[in-house]
Amino acid sequence: MNEKQNLLNYNQQALNDFFAKLGEKPYRTKQIMKWIYKDHVFDFNQMLNLSKKLREQLTEIACIDFPTVVSKNHALDGVVKWVIDMGSENNVEMVYIPEKDRGTLCISSQVGCALACTFCSTGYQGFNRNLSTAEIIAQVLIANLHLTSSGKRISNVVFMGMGEPMLNEEAVYSACDLLLDDLSFGLSRRKVTISSSGVVPALERMSERVPVSLAISLHAPTDDLRDELVPINKKYPIKELMRACDVYLNAGTQERHILFEYVMLKGVNDSQQHAEQLAKLLKGVSAKVNLIPFNPFPQSEYQVSSVRTIEKFQNILFSQGIRTMTRRTRGEDVDAACGQLAGKVKDKTKRTDARRN
Ligand code: SAH
Ligand code: SF4
Repeated sequence: MNEKQNLLNYNQQALNDFFAKLGEKPYRTKQIMKWIYKDHVFDFNQMLNLSKKLREQLTEIACIDFPTVVSKNHALDGVVKWVIDMGSENNVEMVYIPEKDRGTLCISSQVGCALACTFCSTGYQGFNRNLSTAEIIAQVLIANLHLTSSGKRISNVVFMGMGEPMLNEEAVYSACDLLLDDLSFGLSRRKVTISSSGVVPALERMSERVPVSLAISLHAPTDDLRDELVPINKKYPIKELMRACDVYLNAGTQERHILFEYVMLKGVNDSQQHAEQLAKLLKGVSAKVNLIPFNPFPQSEYQVSSVRTIEKFQNILFSQGIRTMTRRTRGEDVDAACGQLAGKVKDKTKRTDARRN
């Protein structure tokens, strides 16, 4: 017998195709998306505007399946961290970060990550597998269900949890479709962000495929240093990465900019010269820079730059006309800060293999 099809895997188009195969009209897509994403009803038998025959058929061949929540922790600053079991003891983490005017959900796209950036806890764990669209979208649904009961809402979704979204393109694109679609989450394109360490060919495809915001994890202004910190740079060096950024900036009809993320590592990438090189690299690019104070984790040997060094670095960028902000570290007491997401990765591939990628 075929396995049941999890309808959380399907964007609007895929649902239309699914219902067409059953001989049903496209308006069934609207009905089912309303039940799932607006009414949060996940039992076909309760979807009373579907015919009895269709309800029975769906119960037989389809499902709306969620991964299990292992734990949910509240930090003192309002940050919430969930650990979610994706099966076979593979856990991923997601984080909700409330701010005055918005609530950002940081979600995962893979179990672990193969790219082995030297300052990243996820990178240390190696890679197990890609998440499906359903597993990505379920994270947003789970958070929504938990948060609405306490009067909080998700206004922004960022792919900045575990994994490299541009190595799981199809699932991430369909998830973006659902995040933007008015029939499901209806977020504006500016409020959904893919963060990537620079998988160049994928970034070029992404520029045309989904009109969401882009963050690039740059972390170093020269190839020598970036090769060390972000090993995928050996395959796609900075020049190629900047060309892909150009493709993104020129795609679509609306004005675009890119957020460049730069983790501040004491004595590694935080000197005055690094700031000047970074300003030169970004001159003329429609860019914003986000300086992220390094968040330590047990295996790491790096230290975070001092507040004064970060300020000096930021001032050099300002003086060169580069828009720059420093990210405030949140959720530290539940290990939910950026780059600290660890989860649990079983049967991982070896990091040495990952580095050759
Ligand atoms: N793989 C993607 C998205 C997940 S990482 C990417 O690399 O962009 C999300 C962000 O957290 C990236 O900018 C990443 O470089 C940063 N990050 C990773 N480890 C960190 C750490 N220990 N401290 C601060 N930021 C970190
Ligand atoms: Fe992967 Fe991003 Fe971590 Fe690098 S920073 S190891 S790409 S999750």
